[in-house]
Amino acid sequence: MRSVHREYASALHIDGSHGEGGGQILRSSLALAIMTGKPFRIDNIRAKRKKSGLMRQHLTAVQAATQISGAETLGAAIGSSRVDFTPGAVAGGEYTFSIGTAGSTTLVLQTVLLPLALADRPSRVVLEGGTHNPFAPPFDFLDRVYIPLLNRMGARVSATLERPGFYPAGGGRIVVEITPAKALSPLELGERGALKRRHARAVVSNLPRDIAERELDVVRRKLEMKPDEMEVVEVERPVGPGNIVTIEVEHEHARELFTGFGEVGRSANRVAGHAVQQCQRYLHSEAVAGEYLTDQLMLPLAMAGGGLFRSVGMSRHAETHAELIGMFTNVRVDVEPCEGGGVLVRLAT
Ligand code: ATP
Repeated sequence: MRSVHREYASALHIDGSHGEGGGQILRSSLALAIMTGKPFRIDNIRAKRKKSGLMRQHLTAVQAATQISGAETLGAAIGSSRVDFTPGAVAGGEYTFSIGTAGSTTLVLQTVLLPLALADRPSRVVLEGGTHNPFAPPFDFLDRVYIPLLNRMGARVSATLERPGFYPAGGGRIVVEITPAKALSPLELGERGALKRRHARAVVSNLPRDIAERELDVVRRKLEMKPDEMEVVEVERPVGPGNIVTIEVEHEHARELFTGFGEVGRSANRVAGHAVQQCQRYLHSEAVAGEYLTDQLMLPLAMAGGGLFRSVGMSRHAETHAELIGMFTNVRVDVEPCEGGGVLVRLAT
């Protein structure tokens, strides 16, 4: 214990209330600390959220980060607003992380995936909890957008959705196989190329099929999509009720996925409309990355030592991420406006 305290004199100090002020600063700090070997102290964890401090999902992320890197950690408890984290060496292997609530498995994975993609040996990671949660990447985004980009950078990662777990019931399970890369290669995603394919899915779990049909009707009308570009999926053996609409858009050099989450009292029109709106914003731009991919792509590019991509714009999450990357690494994130809208995000040492 004493050595941990002594270390903290020289540890990075992170103010968790800064910028976006949510769970992402914590998760990304954990990932960056493991990959750079730099210890940190974070205070004011999730200070900008209604219920601040560590909740189950964030605590699981801290525990997962501790486990894969043999870290010394202080403050890992529900409600805690300070964590001290001193990473050891990251070790690939077999891991199971159960959140115990419907907390997001994909956000816990966001914490450990990149370090494990650069580990000494392969890993198999089982995650249990929510797989489709509002305000988090749905499994489909991870599988269709984020992981393929990591693979383009040299890692070999595949994810299987063994059981969907919709918020608030949770009960989902995903399995991720990771063969690490020695180093990640930089990606240059300046142009997305021509539109090749669009695909919309409306998924219902323990809810009537006609909800999904009405949602796809909205997508069809607003995006002029054809029946063979759309599908209704009814979850077999559902754990709890849930509904999601995803619209996948594939260009020559890029893939994106936009989501609308169903919720009690939210009309099919609103659920589908939300996904459509994000999709239209993207299609009308010339961007490679939508809002969410923008904040998530910066971390792997920082670990690759650089890269660039065209984005619809910088969110508060993305700006906070850029600052955090500057604290842990010597990579700078420069953002410049593009002719015709959006921004070019460039990372370089
Ligand atoms: P909090 O601590 O704020 O309650 P949190 O821990 O759930 O929240 P945030 O800090 O808000 O997390 O980060 C959410 C992350 O989920 C961000 O990286 C964001 O890009 C991602 N995300 C949110 N919605 C989507 C979506 N529809 N598709 C893909 N990624 C998403």
